[in-house]
Amino acid sequence: MKQKNFKPQKQKKPGLESKMIPSPEYISKKYKASGKLTNKVALITGGDSGIGKSVAVHYAHEGADVAIVYLSEKKDAQETKKLVEAQNRNCLLIKGDLTDEKFCKKCIKDVIKEYGRVNIVVNNAGTHFNTDTPSEVTSENMVKTFETNVYPLFYIVKAAIPHLSKGDTIINTSSVTAYRGSDHLLDYSSTKGAISTFTKSLALMLAKKGIRVNGVAPGPIWTPLIVSSFEKLKKFGKDTPMGRAGQPSEVAPAYVFLASSDSSYITGQFIHVNGGEIVEN
Ligand code: NAD
Ligand code: MG
Repeated sequence: MKQKNFKPQKQKKPGLESKMIPSPEYISKKYKASGKLTNKVALITGGDSGIGKSVAVHYAHEGADVAIVYLSEKKDAQETKKLVEAQNRNCLLIKGDLTDEKFCKKCIKDVIKEYGRVNIVVNNAGTHFNTDTPSEVTSENMVKTFETNVYPLFYIVKAAIPHLSKGDTIINTSSVTAYRGSDHLLDYSSTKGAISTFTKSLALMLAKKGIRVNGVAPGPIWTPLIVSSFEKLKKFGKDTPMGRAGQPSEVAPAYVFLASSDSSYITGQFIHVNGGEIVEN
């Protein structure tokens, strides 16, 4: 049988959170901050929208200044900045492409220039292309997915480590797909597996320095990343034991815990915020 030639899906323009209906919830009205990150400085990649935006807002509520890296969504980034500033904290916006190592170095340089230090690094930016069969995974999209989801962790971490010290933390965003596979995200789920293993190895490398490295593995969360067909959206998250998608506001508190001294004896681990799907760590 002749094999079909699949064209690479065009690199999606990232979805705008400001256009999502209903809008995602970034922080619950019930959330009670208690100064867990007072005077810390956090760099959050993909902090313009979705999970990263919610993390930025929670960190600001907990007393941290933040810097967020975003690809192109200026309006979303400015909205995050407003929410952070509403907590009387600072928000540095850094626009650019994390697949470029020079840009990753610049991100850390900019944070140090602005705040004089960095204590928390959240590697959260990511992308994916849906496919139903292995042959649909074009080399172009596979490379793009690895370049976006995995390489920047090496670039950012290498640039950040000279500035990190005892008590500082690195938190990486993986996915439930790393743990149970995915029938439509072959390349993406592989990058998330790489992120999980990267996290464990880096944790071992940095444990003696007192720098902790952990991760969060979300299930289906209501963010611009998942915006696809309307039919798929209606079903999004319905197959979890809890029967619904999660909100960013239900994921970000895990990032607060992992960044704060409340998790001081935890490194190399993942928190699975996925609506009840049981997976191994
Ligand atoms: P999102 O679209 O709101 O956030 C991703 C952000 O990454 C974008 O806003 C974009 O600015 C940034 N980004 C993408 N490519 C970039 C590049 N080359 N350079 C710089 N920035 C870039 O979506 P989200 O769902 O909040 O995603 C955050 C993380 O959570 C991702 O790593 C994603 O894989 C992961 N995740 C999401 C879900 C979910 O259901 N939403 C589930 C599991 C894991
Ligand atoms: Mg975005």
